[in-house]
Amino acid sequence: MSVTPGACIGCRACELACAAAHMAAGATVGSMTRPPVPRLYLVREGGTAAPVACRHCEAAPCAAVCPTAAVRCDASGVVVEPARCIGCKACLAVCPVGAMALAEVQDHGRPVLRRVPDPAAPGGFVEEPAWLASKCDLCRERPAGPACVGACPVGALSLVVPGEVRRVRLLAAARAMAAAASGAREEGR
Ligand code: SF4
Ligand code: SF4
Repeated sequence: MSVTPGACIGCRACELACAAAHMAAGATVGSMTRPPVPRLYLVREGGTAAPVACRHCEAAPCAAVCPTAAVRCDASGVVVEPARCIGCKACLAVCPVGAMALAEVQDHGRPVLRRVPDPAAPGGFVEEPAWLASKCDLCRERPAGPACVGACPVGALSLVVPGEVRRVRLLAAARAMAAAASGAREEGR
């Protein structure tokens, strides 16, 4: 994900779109039991604003330190598997941009639960929503791509595909060289 410098107006449409994209199917304002949880965070500093999200690092430090292999890297980025996360926060400590957070996350539309000892409860424990690692997954299960990119009213966000960036720049360089060579030929006539 890339943010065009100076373009963001700080409206938080990206945060809302992100939270909505990761809610259980069928959730409505009236049925929500917890606040929306985004996976990118608008940061304001001085007169500027910019959303910050996981950079999907090639050598992801969060994946390297995770003791349960809950963070994995594949061709489309870095992803957290909530069912494997134990909420130890090691990944939060090493993320270079602060994109990893702990949150009440859902797995396939259902909150992930943890058992808490409670002698007064039948069976001696109660289940409550677990706070687990949560971060941008590039909306990998959303056919239209990242919700934040589509929601930004000023086009400040874009999805960067490294191979495509290189191809576009190579093409631009080739065209510039061709134009320069053509200009030199014109001058030589
Ligand atoms: S909080 Fe979860 S994802 Fe992060 S390092 Fe611990 S087990 Fe792994
Ligand atoms: S939606 Fe666009 S303008 Fe609004 S906060 Fe997000 S990046 Fe900035």
